[in-house]
Amino acid sequence: MTHASQHPATIAVTAGRPPAESDQPLNAQIMLASSFIAGGDLEYARFQNPTWSALEETIGQLEGGRALAFASGMAAVAAVLDQVPHGGRVVVPRHAYQGSLGLLEQHRVAGRIEPVLVDVEDVDAVVAAIPGAALVWMETPTNPALEVADLARIVAAAKEAGVPVAVDNTFATPLLQRPLEDGADVVVHSATKLMSGHSDVIMGAVVTNDDDWFTRLHGNRSLHGAIPGPFEAFLVLRGLRTLDVRLERAQATAKAVAAALEAHPAVSRVRYPGFSTVVSFEVESAERADRVVAAVQLARHATSLGGVETTLERRRRWASESKSIPEGLIRLSVGIEHADDVIADLLQALDA
Ligand code: PLP
Repeated sequence: MTHASQHPATIAVTAGRPPAESDQPLNAQIMLASSFIAGGDLEYARFQNPTWSALEETIGQLEGGRALAFASGMAAVAAVLDQVPHGGRVVVPRHAYQGSLGLLEQHRVAGRIEPVLVDVEDVDAVVAAIPGAALVWMETPTNPALEVADLARIVAAAKEAGVPVAVDNTFATPLLQRPLEDGADVVVHSATKLMSGHSDVIMGAVVTNDDDWFTRLHGNRSLHGAIPGPFEAFLVLRGLRTLDVRLERAQATAKAVAAALEAHPAVSRVRYPGFSTVVSFEVESAERADRVVAAVQLARHATSLGGVETTLERRRRWASESKSIPEGLIRLSVGIEHADDVIADLLQALDA
């Protein structure tokens, strides 16, 4: 039993549990079933699964809506973009996650969607782009530029114009930002990142408090079949249980890392929005950045983010990354190792 008055850190631990009755397990079990005896609510495991339900209950309570688990963050992004009517304009951050931009580009080429790229920190430009759009897609902070959008103002403008708003909340997680409370219609997550937190699972989720959105997204998931496995759902729920303490540690370290990088002469710019666990920093060239990435000893050179282990990569090594991201930008995902060790590793890599 959880209560609306509980802190999100508590809900992350208490929600989605079996009833507190004798012989019940503490944790939701991994339900391995493709089909269920007819006549109840479950029927077929492409539509519903009790292990997803425990996770969805938890994510839903944290974001303040009803959640649906998807096979990946991109499957969740795709399900939301599928709701845009043919020919609709979608307002989207110029530096949104490259996969989201790539999918929008596919829709553009097919003549389905007209993306309108905006600088999320230029709130007047974002607001000006909204009237007549079919969807406002927000991501804040953006990946990897770490720009922060004024969600409250953007959502208010979209509401006035009657345009729905979807927010990719992957970087903030519902412990740091709850877009539905600001009036957004849908929240999207790559649960692969901070939610699961251990770099061992790919999963996504959408959350909404609008019944029509929920029905359409559930229908989309059932018919496209982009469903997670029950084991993956179990892992994400297990990760969520420790999200608050992982965030607390990694954020404190990220702040200290950002300060240490600011003070290093080889670093020309540090981007850290003051929350979450990703720090992007720039050195003079791609070659210099590649040398830094090759010289780390504790951190690992790997893509993705939000795991307990510190990872980093030069983002422009991906041909698909936005060309306005500097060649020498390194995106660092700060883990939960001791801050002194993380900082010492980065400084020795910068000096190498
Ligand atoms: N949204 C953001 C902000 C991301 O960083 C990512 C992945 O990096 C995705 C969505 C896609 O998630 P997934 O890799 O789980 O499909």
